[in-house]
Amino acid sequence: MKFQSRYRQHTIVMRSATYEPLPGMQRSKLVPQIVATFTGPQRLFDSEADQRTNNWSDEDRIALEDWLFNHPKYMIDFFVAPGEEIPEEYKELSQRKAPEKPRICEKFEIIDNDIIRCPEPVTAGRSFCKAHDGSEQQKIVGQAGSGNVGLTTTKG
Ligand SMILES: [Zn+2]
Repeated sequence: MKFQSRYRQHTIVMRSATYEPLPGMQRSKLVPQIVATFTGPQRLFDSEADQRTNNWSDEDRIALEDWLFNHPKYMIDFFVAPGEEIPEEYKELSQRKAPEKPRICEKFEIIDNDIIRCPEPVTAGRSFCKAHDGSEQQKIVGQAGSGNVGLTTTKG
């Protein structure tokens, strides 16, 4: 699974390296760290490539992927890389975590035969931005020069 970060040299540590004492023995066993390191110009982390490089078990790699999907910064600081299919079991979670697009103003204007929607965000609980609040919701139905303009959508 490939993930892409917004940031260069981004590292997310799931588990630090620890020494696990072995009963009845002098030495302890090193439990290697598990980290997602986003590298290269595309700022990618490839869990399968890093599994091979770091000798992680399949369980470790799967635990890391699951941990990343459930990470609070997933869909904010890092994403599934473009071209990668989000596994079925994480699709709903990914949608839920996707930040909501801000609603924009429903004021439409016709400029040079183009319908331009005001790009300003709405004031909370309203359909229009500050400047256009109080405007009637518009239904533009075919005029403005050539062709049928035909715009009826007023809901964002
Ligand atoms: Zn507006």
